[in-house]
Amino acid sequence: MYKADETRYDKMPYNRCGKSGLKLPALSLGMWHNFGSVNDLENMKKILFEAFDCGITHFDLANNYGPVYGSAEENMGRILRSDLMPYRKEMVISTKAGYDMWKGPYGDGGSRKYLMTSLDESLKRLGLDYVDIFYHHRPDPDTPMEETMAALDQIVRSGKALYVGISNYNREQTREACRILREQGTPFIINQLSYSMLNRWIERDGVKDYLYENGIGCIAFSPLAQGILTGKYLEGIPADSRAGSGKSPFLRGSDLSEDTLEKVRALQEIARERGQSLTQMALAWILRDGKVASVLIGASRPEQIRENCRALDNIIFSSEESDRIDEILR
Ligand code: NDP
Repeated sequence: MYKADETRYDKMPYNRCGKSGLKLPALSLGMWHNFGSVNDLENMKKILFEAFDCGITHFDLANNYGPVYGSAEENMGRILRSDLMPYRKEMVISTKAGYDMWKGPYGDGGSRKYLMTSLDESLKRLGLDYVDIFYHHRPDPDTPMEETMAALDQIVRSGKALYVGISNYNREQTREACRILREQGTPFIINQLSYSMLNRWIERDGVKDYLYENGIGCIAFSPLAQGILTGKYLEGIPADSRAGSGKSPFLRGSDLSEDTLEKVRALQEIARERGQSLTQMALAWILRDGKVASVLIGASRPEQIRENCRALDNIIFSSEESDRIDEILR
């Protein structure tokens, strides 16, 4: 049976999630890839244990992570039962509903029907009574925002989640959600958004600043642009990578344009001068201004967790470095 490293809390900074009382590790682990029924359970355990030993206390799921849909939650449930349940109170486990999950009109979107049913099923798969954070996974223009937010509120009041969040909501959508949730008194603490050196839309849209100014936490997903910012695709597509494995429809060879690879090469030079790998610099860059509470990484093997955690050794960027990076990314 797994026994956690006694020194795990010496290694990781914990940041307040917005103005809430909940602290999140500077790096959190997402289970979108590599935790499905197509993957190896022993490897999943190694990744999760390595993460927890490094001080990563936050584990992010969604109803449809797999493949097959639901299987990442099932595997997390298995590993909780076999090893991690003694540490449940030291863990922040989140899940979501919002994208397609089951057939028919009730397995997608933002209806009260979908959200409440989906969370009940997630809890069964996880073998838990509650999750720490439950998210609406994406805005649904066909459901009144009041309905979705009331469902989130009831979920918390029923004790099935401690906090709620939204994901992929832009500034205007966040403002509206926040207005309703605050009126209801719902513990709304976080927006989960894509953000990386290659994807700065949350800066342009203004949602990053909006969250910061309004005391709501921001957690950044796909911080390595699914691996592109590790530099692993500069000499072709490795067979054992996300783009090369053929297992993910979300990253394909065609996403790797020469323009993108050119930027990656130029960034790699700055990382080298900073004494970091490009991976580490890309993660550190997200934390540079203190406006992002946690960076949500993925990993296909435990060594990646170890490398990525070393990003935290240097998250300070000189203005000269920042200017050069901005120039490359322009
Ligand atoms: P990343 O951008 O961090 O990509 C992770 C992948 O990059 C790994 O699986 C691995 O892929 C590769 N990688 C990571 N570290 C290294 C390393 N040190 N060396 C070499 N390769 C490395 O994040 P994800 O795209 O996986 O997203 C992270 C999490 O964000 C998800 O698990 C999920 O929880 C969340 N998310 C949320 C979404 C939402 O809509 N709310 C959408 C997408 C993600 P490989 O080795 O296979 O090449």
